[in-house]
Amino acid sequence: MSESFIKPTDIYCSSCGAKLTTKDGHCSSCGKLVGEAQYAGIERIGAAGKGYSENTKHESFARASKATNKGVMIILPIIALVIIVALIVMGVSPIGSIIAGVATYILMLIIALLNMRKKPSWEGTVEKKSYEKIKRQGADRRTYLIKFKTDDGKTKKQVWHSYSPVWDYLQESDKVRYVGDIGGVNAFEKYDKSEDESIPCACCGKLMDPRYTYCTICGALLLKGKTS
Ligand SMILES: [Zn+2]
Ligand SMILES: [Zn+2]
Repeated sequence: MSESFIKPTDIYCSSCGAKLTTKDGHCSSCGKLVGEAQYAGIERIGAAGKGYSENTKHESFARASKATNKGVMIILPIIALVIIVALIVMGVSPIGSIIAGVATYILMLIIALLNMRKKPSWEGTVEKKSYEKIKRQGADRRTYLIKFKTDDGKTKKQVWHSYSPVWDYLQESDKVRYVGDIGGVNAFEKYDKSEDESIPCACCGKLMDPRYTYCTICGALLLKGKTS
């Protein structure tokens, strides 16, 4: 039964985090049912519990962020190449186009490396959510911001350069922990997840069913608290 329960986004097993291979609706690593069927009878709301996860050093984070970083490293030279070709087509000299492409590549690489760098963890409260409309390449885009107040009185700012479900998920006055050593802009865990219908993956930022143990998109362990 229930191959139909498997969504196209299910790349990793929600129970064991292994890369998914299945023929009869069961994960070939742990044998558990894949998809929603496994969680029949378990209440979705409340499944992520209350309190911060004790598993912030889990091995799955290194693997998940390595996969994301690898994706970025492949995309950057492709973007640079597209810029060079576009400029040449637009009549810019080949040398000028190559210089512009390489300069953009270096800039994007620096930004990517700065984002990948591991940052120290902190705990605090969501103070203010906002977004800014910016013009980029002639189109209206939004930059998403959250201002936090840390428990030791500092102000922290997090910026998402495109829409992130994590920005939507976090609400003003929420108590949160920034799990910086996981890396990236999505590494936030809310203290009280007991009312949540979905929780974001701290690595890729995608919203997941709180009954899952692992993110089915990147294979990272989901940060959950204690259920009463
Ligand atoms: Zn499994
Ligand atoms: Zn993920």
